[in-house]
Amino acid sequence: MSSKKPQPLIPRRTHERCPVCGEISYSLAGVHPQCAVRQADAKRLKRIKRDKPEGKKAKPSTGVKPWQRICPKCKALQHVRKKVCVCGHTFAVRANPPAGEGD
Ligand SMILES: [Zn+2]
Ligand SMILES: [Zn+2]
Repeated sequence: MSSKKPQPLIPRRTHERCPVCGEISYSLAGVHPQCAVRQADAKRLKRIKRDKPEGKKAKPSTGVKPWQRICPKCKALQHVRKKVCVCGHTFAVRANPPAGEGD
């Protein structure tokens, strides 16, 4: 009268999931070789980013639009088509060559 039943719950060793992409990896390390490289690369990039000194930006955030320019006198934003600033500063116009000047 043995009620012993073959347990279907066999402690089957499941494959490790790759911590990088989440897919099951069949490699011993549990990480896809390419994923390991990717992870290492990401870590390296992160470190490089962190090591990079801040404040070395090529573009200063002045908020100047392509159609605007800053008056060197009063630092006010002016439209590029404006020739004279409100402060009286005359912008040097050199886009158009003097043609027919000197009437
Ligand atoms: Zn992976
Ligand atoms: Zn001005």
